[in-house]
Amino acid sequence: MAYPNSARPSEDLCSIADCSAHSFDDISLLICHELRTPLASIQGALKLLGYQQSGTLSDDGQRLLAIAINNADRLNRLANALENQPTPLLTLLSSAELELLQLENDLHQAVEQQAIYLVYQPIVSIEHNQIIGFEALARWQHSHRASISPEVFIPLAEKAGLIDTLGLFLLDQACQQLHQWQMQFPAVVPLSVSVNLSAVQLRHPQLVEHIDQILKRHHIAPHSLKLEVTESALIENKDVAIRALVELQQLGIQLYIDDFGTGYSSLGRLQDLPFDTLKIDRSFIRNKNWAMSEAIFMLAERLHLDVIVEGVETLDDLMTLKELGYKKMQGYYFSRPLDSLGIARLLVRQMLDGQLSFTPELARAA
Ligand code: C2E
Ligand code: MG
Ligand code: MG
Repeated sequence: MAYPNSARPSEDLCSIADCSAHSFDDISLLICHELRTPLASIQGALKLLGYQQSGTLSDDGQRLLAIAINNADRLNRLANALENQPTPLLTLLSSAELELLQLENDLHQAVEQQAIYLVYQPIVSIEHNQIIGFEALARWQHSHRASISPEVFIPLAEKAGLIDTLGLFLLDQACQQLHQWQMQFPAVVPLSVSVNLSAVQLRHPQLVEHIDQILKRHHIAPHSLKLEVTESALIENKDVAIRALVELQQLGIQLYIDDFGTGYSSLGRLQDLPFDTLKIDRSFIRNKNWAMSEAIFMLAERLHLDVIVEGVETLDDLMTLKELGYKKMQGYYFSRPLDSLGIARLLVRQMLDGQLSFTPELARAA
């Protein structure tokens, strides 16, 4: 279960819950006790805040308070259910829910131990046949399971309140790595790195300040960092998210709208959003939806936005997209995401040949 360090269940609870000598009823009772004691004080504090809140809390503060009250009610209902019906705990949760709880617990540890790492996928200029940058993609090699997809653990990190810590850690790693490559390969076109930002991170009041500190720490020029945000990130908390994006852009960081075409952003507002580049979602390429691919390219041109196409897997994809006008691409055809050593090898090859020659082995390399 998701506990911040200061709010972990007591050692008693952990050790007793682990001990098979105790019945589930004992455990239910103990959990009731462990729930009731902090709940009473949390509910008291929330009530007090609730009485005083009118006019003194910001919109965000009021929203947080409402969420806290709702969560305390949920815990209360759980305590009631356990008291009225001391059923074995296991029947309260499906095995899928238990598995997710276990995963969330493991994720806490993985984040704490900095076990989540980045791989990098080249973004290529077709015009110059060169790598112009990389997208940093998070990976989690679970200690006793197969590797967990970021499409699973990123939403879990958001839910567990871990995404701000994890996101900044990954951003720091990406900038550190970029600095190394820029030093090692000064002759290669100014390399950049794109890092994905979650919608939740955009709500952190100090996000911009933290990113600025990371850039300075690693001597990265702001224009070398690109931040990718999905369209859907702008749906919730639109105003807060846009304010953060504008500040990031003012720092000199370029902003990419990721998975474009899959969200529900109003096209009418696209022009007002602080983005520099559209990344067209790979589903258009997978489905060979060339009409939409062309329409998105034209839209980007009219709005003076740069455009990158993701998910280019075959030479046919590449040739068709080139004909439609696309000049920047990313996908398995060029390279799968690679570790930093794999990327350094690619850059050496590009330096020696003057340009990048992609081969089928490379596409399979990861
Ligand atoms: P995304 O940002 O759209 O990243 C592109 C995804 O497409 C990556 O999946 C990449 O491995 C995959 N991909 C690239 N080329 C091809 C191709 O030719 N064919 C196919 N089928 N797939 C291709 P991945 O690494 O599994 O990441 C999935 C999503 O998880 C990312 O989508 C992004 O939304 C999220 N994610 C990954 N790393 C991070 C992170 O550090 N922070 C946040 N907030 N989200 C992340
Ligand atoms: Mg992305
Ligand atoms: Mg994408």
